[in-house]
Amino acid sequence: MNEAEIKERVARFLEEHDPAGDRLEFLRARFDAGLAWVWFPEGLGGLGAHRELQQVVERELADTPQINGGKQGIGLGMAAPTILAFGTEEQKRRFLRPLWTGEEIWCQLFSEPGAGSDLATLGTRAVRDGDEWVVDGQKVWTSGAHHARWGILVTRTDPDVPKHRGMTYFVCDMQAPGVEVRPLRQITGEAEFNEVFLTGVRLSDDLRLGEVGDGWRVAQTTLMNERVAIGGGPSRRGGGVMATVLNAWREHPELRTNDLHQRLLSLWVEAEVTRLSGARLREQLVAGHPGPEGSGMKLSFARLNQALSGFDVEFHRDLGYDDWTFRRSEDVDFFGRGPGYRYLRAKGNSIEGGTSEILRNIIAERVLGLPSEPRVDKDVPWKDLPR
Ligand SMILES: Cc1cc2nc3c(=O)[nH]c(=O)nc-3n(C[C@H](O)[C@H](O)[C@H](O)COP(=O)(O)OP(=O)(O)OC[C@H]3O[C@@H](n4cnc5c(N)ncnc54)[C@H](O)[C@@H]3O)c2cc1C
Repeated sequence: MNEAEIKERVARFLEEHDPAGDRLEFLRARFDAGLAWVWFPEGLGGLGAHRELQQVVERELADTPQINGGKQGIGLGMAAPTILAFGTEEQKRRFLRPLWTGEEIWCQLFSEPGAGSDLATLGTRAVRDGDEWVVDGQKVWTSGAHHARWGILVTRTDPDVPKHRGMTYFVCDMQAPGVEVRPLRQITGEAEFNEVFLTGVRLSDDLRLGEVGDGWRVAQTTLMNERVAIGGGPSRRGGGVMATVLNAWREHPELRTNDLHQRLLSLWVEAEVTRLSGARLREQLVAGHPGPEGSGMKLSFARLNQALSGFDVEFHRDLGYDDWTFRRSEDVDFFGRGPGYRYLRAKGNSIEGGTSEILRNIIAERVLGLPSEPRVDKDVPWKDLPR
């Protein structure tokens, strides 16, 4: 399928569906027409087309009802590719459509108080009981759990084998009895993420994604896609935070200095290198699943976002610092608020989706082929690990 064919499909779709009509019906129809994510298979919101052609669809449908990329980020960027790779046909048909339209929001139940960077040490237990699993444990930093209908959940099902084995991946019903979501307030003032307590939560076996004991491999697919989802954009030259900074630069010539000018140009070069590397990575994605190179993108994105938001605060020095620390806003809004807010929120960029230190380790070992970190516990049964 090429660009002209996609444009023709979009035109036909618009003849049959009025964008001014019901928003949800329009989005559902867009999914059914294969114009949700064109690189997904037919019947699952896609056309089995080249991933880059998605940009054509987005351009052609720019003035029509849109999905909420922020609130749906975990579903779109992480749950969907994992379900596509490991789900049964039934799971794909059940979950992908409402995930894409935003009728069902997803969250990610991976991190625990004792398992973050070393995720494989996680201890949330799932024990089989007939056709069901009983889950007990605690997750933390669960973004958007307070909005979520479903969660992607990694559990320990066999404590007798080393930590990377013995894990099983589930879709967690966030409305099931025993799921308790408690908000955590962060430096930006809002409670974007939560603690999630799971007590005797019963999940039917058909909510399992992948084989029993294969949860680590399934989780890797999620994590690699997460890094691309966080670090993969913006695809537009001078877009993202750079656009915000440039607008301020244009609006306030009185605040410019030679030193800031020099730094802005360096940041522009860095942003361009990051953007072009992103385009190259997306090309690789067409050939299969994202590889460890996605870690490089996420690392660059975090560095750049923090440098740009720091620059922005410094540039606005004479206009006053708008402190968000004690505000109590309901939701995250990266672009809708001032430089002070963005500066604080960008701090989390080098932690979420894998810290920058961990990403450097991955790049060193799996991209550059350098000697690996000593891993003394990799053959020790999980139950014997010190904790
Ligand atoms: C905004 C935000 C949103 C998040 N959303 C979610 C979510 O929705 N779902 C979810 O499951 N999790 C989420 N997280 C959690 C995130 O994935 C973890 O915070 C992250 O993986 C780090 O784990 P940790 O906080 O336990 O830190 P730790 O793993 O305890 O790390 C502490 C410090 O030690 C360093 N370190 C650890 N190991 C090594 C090593 N081997 N080599 C070098 N340095 C090392 C780390 O880089 C870090 O600086 C979110 C985090 C943030 C900030």
